[in-house]
Amino acid sequence: MEKHRVVIIGGGPAGLAFATRLKARGISNMVVFEREQEAGGIPRHCGHWGFGWESHRRLMSGPKFAVRLREEARGVDLRTGTTVLGFTAPQVMRVQNAKGISEIAAEHIVLATGARESSRASRLIGGARLPQVMNTGTLQQLVYLKHLKPFSRPVIIGGEWVSFSALMTCNYLGIRPAAMIVEEPNIAAPWFFSWGARLRYGVPVKTTTRLIAINGISAVESVEVERRGGRETIACDGVIVSGKFVPEDPLLTNAATTPQVTLVGNVQGELKTAGRCVAEARALADRISI
Ligand SMILES: Cc1cc2nc3c(=O)[nH]c(=O)nc-3n(C[C@H](O)[C@H](O)[C@H](O)COP(=O)(O)OP(=O)(O)OC[C@H]3O[C@@H](n4cnc5c(N)ncnc54)[C@H](O)[C@@H]3O)c2cc1C
Repeated sequence: MEKHRVVIIGGGPAGLAFATRLKARGISNMVVFEREQEAGGIPRHCGHWGFGWESHRRLMSGPKFAVRLREEARGVDLRTGTTVLGFTAPQVMRVQNAKGISEIAAEHIVLATGARESSRASRLIGGARLPQVMNTGTLQQLVYLKHLKPFSRPVIIGGEWVSFSALMTCNYLGIRPAAMIVEEPNIAAPWFFSWGARLRYGVPVKTTTRLIAINGISAVESVEVERRGGRETIACDGVIVSGKFVPEDPLLTNAATTPQVTLVGNVQGELKTAGRCVAEARALADRISI
């Protein structure tokens, strides 16, 4: 069986930064497994600006930040198109790549699999399953990686940082959302983002407003919302269900055995900026005993 001193699962900002720093410490026989064909994690498809301040003291677009991290990790054994499927023993993983499935053992395992937006189903949003209903991650992949325009007047559900990232992604293609719908009385992002949405992009932010249903049979036609005791129908042709991140940790929660892993980046639970994930991963890699 193939054996390594360190296996890092996930080649996003946290995993790449952790590997780069261990390599600088002279740790060898280390490998990073990344399921996508290209490493870099979420920033690869965040075409907007705003990455890197906490780690590089300069701001870059997401794709530039991903390139920078890959360059810093040059020389690391980085295996893309490689998914860790699960654990067969605490230190043994089932790993799948184009050649098939194999078992790989490691003395130290680092989980850097990030976080994802919670699904529509887990938020109990009713209505038909329509292709114009998606989360921000999917929207960004369509827009920045595939250059597709999935709708022209969606509503955005949520008022987190990522919801405003969805707004910027829409603006990139000239998509003008009909509204941002926020269940809470205040947005989770800084308050002035609401002003930015209205004044810069012409999009109203409706707080204390709850999505009741998505209407449409073969395509989204409108959403129904509850606002201050009354109901309102907002015409739209798509819905972006943004935010409410959950750790991407099924490797732990579904494990038949209890693997011993170190967590880095957003899989730790709290949603952080990419720069913070990198800074924290570097600091941990510098002090961890391996
Ligand atoms: C829409 C959006 C906009 C954002 N905008 C900003 C911004 O402007 N500025 C900013 O600083 N931050 C921003 N962020 C946050 C930033 O992207 C994250 O903080 C950062 O990407 C987290 O890094 P990570 O390495 O923990 O996880 P990720 O970037 O999610 O990387 C995890 C990696 O693990 C891989 N992986 C998962 N499971 C497996 C498996 N089983 N086997 C192999 N590989 C696996 C994934 O393919 C992925 O590449 C944004 C996030 C989103 C979603």
